[in-house]
Amino acid sequence: MNFSLILLLGLLSHLAIGIVTYDDHALYRIVPKNSESVDILRLLQKSESEKYDFWTFPRAAGMPVDILVSPQQKSFIEKLINENKMDYEILIENIQENIDEEARFNKNNLDDVADISWEIYNDLDTINNWLQKLAQRYPDIVTLLEGGKSYENRTILGVKVSYGSQNKNRGVWIDSNIHAREWISSATNTFLLNAILTSDDPVVRQIAESHDWYIFPVINPDGFVYSYTTDRLWRKNRSLPYGVDLNRNWDYKWNGDACTDISKQSDVYCGTAAFSEIETSSLANFISTIAEDLVLLLTFHSYSQFMIIPYGDSERHVDNYNVTYAAAVKAAESLAQRYGTQYSIGTAPELLYQAFGISMDWAKAQYQIPYVYTYELRDKGKYGFLLPTDQIIPTGLETLDSIITLLQEADKQLSSNY
Ligand SMILES: [Zn+2]
Repeated sequence: MNFSLILLLGLLSHLAIGIVTYDDHALYRIVPKNSESVDILRLLQKSESEKYDFWTFPRAAGMPVDILVSPQQKSFIEKLINENKMDYEILIENIQENIDEEARFNKNNLDDVADISWEIYNDLDTINNWLQKLAQRYPDIVTLLEGGKSYENRTILGVKVSYGSQNKNRGVWIDSNIHAREWISSATNTFLLNAILTSDDPVVRQIAESHDWYIFPVINPDGFVYSYTTDRLWRKNRSLPYGVDLNRNWDYKWNGDACTDISKQSDVYCGTAAFSEIETSSLANFISTIAEDLVLLLTFHSYSQFMIIPYGDSERHVDNYNVTYAAAVKAAESLAQRYGTQYSIGTAPELLYQAFGISMDWAKAQYQIPYVYTYELRDKGKYGFLLPTDQIIPTGLETLDSIITLLQEADKQLSSNY
């Protein structure tokens, strides 16, 4: 077969299944220098939200904003930058090259994977099959859980890991991939689950066996599959017509930013009502059955290297903010020890921007779970959502270090309360 025919067939196969491509889309890092420039970027994000893919959102003067810019958008964005005297750099020239490289690497190494691997990004079937195998392999310790359902009728699969009934009221919840494209989040979560079950480090064993673990690697399964098969940069669920940002759909200050007024095609569209989406409503039902047992709730996202404390809607702090903050500081120190990875700590309005209808705020407000955090995992924008696979294990190891410290701090605090 000649080369052009191969190319043509390759192109046709892409077209046939409608794969979304990002040829010559560049990732811009723009730094607004004053509040007027911040407002201009905010306006762009709000009014043209279906056109521009903001990887990080406008925050404050001096804080960078990462935007994926198509070839057609380049002249407008550069004009905007120049007219407002913003600084900028291009982090990635052609994002499609990164997507292709990741896909090639995953494909080439997929056949070698017996169960699951932390050298590639696993697809949903691999993750779910592995969870099922764990339940068979450790029948006294691992229980399969159905956390809920998805729009396309997939099961939101998770596991409970419990070494004994003495751990009641010492539950740890960790979910990931509520945002489809944030693949490092489920990779890190499954890495942690594996460590809990197989590590022979005595510190890990102590933490693992003295808590009940509720691990849900992919709570947006439809979006995750779609990000694997069709559009690597998909964020929302797949409910018709354009999907909903599941982390704007929880029943806590839902629509506080009037997000129902923005385009339904926006990446942060919050749905028609709180819990309008089956993923969030069914998961909330499930969480209500175990929430009283939870001491720690974590939800993994990427990227930016933040530990975010509730609440996202205002400057108001949670009642136990000082204790929560102090534990996070120690956890971030532990996390940094291994590779020097630096995390920032604070609430969403302090670190990022106000956010409404988010999952951790709902869990905190509804159930007063003592320790609640959102992790924004690696990196700080060099690769963004396309974090290279050789960073999965380091991210898993350092994140585990931080969670050990969090639980040690929680234990100290809880025992001092008696
Ligand atoms: Zn996210």
